[in-house]
Amino acid sequence: MAESHSMDYDCTNCGACCRSFPIFASKTDAEREHRIHTESRHIEAHLRTENEAYQLFPLPFLEKCPFLGDNQLCRIYSKRPDVCRRFSPGSSQCIEARRRQGISQPEN
Ligand code: SF4
Ligand code: SF4
Repeated sequence: MAESHSMDYDCTNCGACCRSFPIFASKTDAEREHRIHTESRHIEAHLRTENEAYQLFPLPFLEKCPFLGDNQLCRIYSKRPDVCRRFSPGSSQCIEARRRQGISQPEN
């Protein structure tokens, strides 16, 4: 995602979590970061939930979240969606994302 909050799991040059699982943003997220409006899929009204109003990944023709830069850093880091803020380096999802992307795990 961006900065690492774990000594062992380094987010630098990773970004696996931004290209492995479906990623959604809420209306509140989009109010904070307006580019979410233009670079995501707007969920149909009858399918929309409080936390899932915009889909960032997967999207047609994109292999990663549209906000993940080529340097594997988030282009909207300071205003990224809440779901991204909650994602922890070293969590089971982080480990699974790295596994899917063929990124090595830190040695214990
Ligand atoms: S998969 Fe884990 S280590 Fe990689 S960017 Fe995401 S949180 Fe950081
Ligand atoms: S918004 Fe940023 S942190 Fe969240 S999935 Fe996209 S690139 Fe990753």
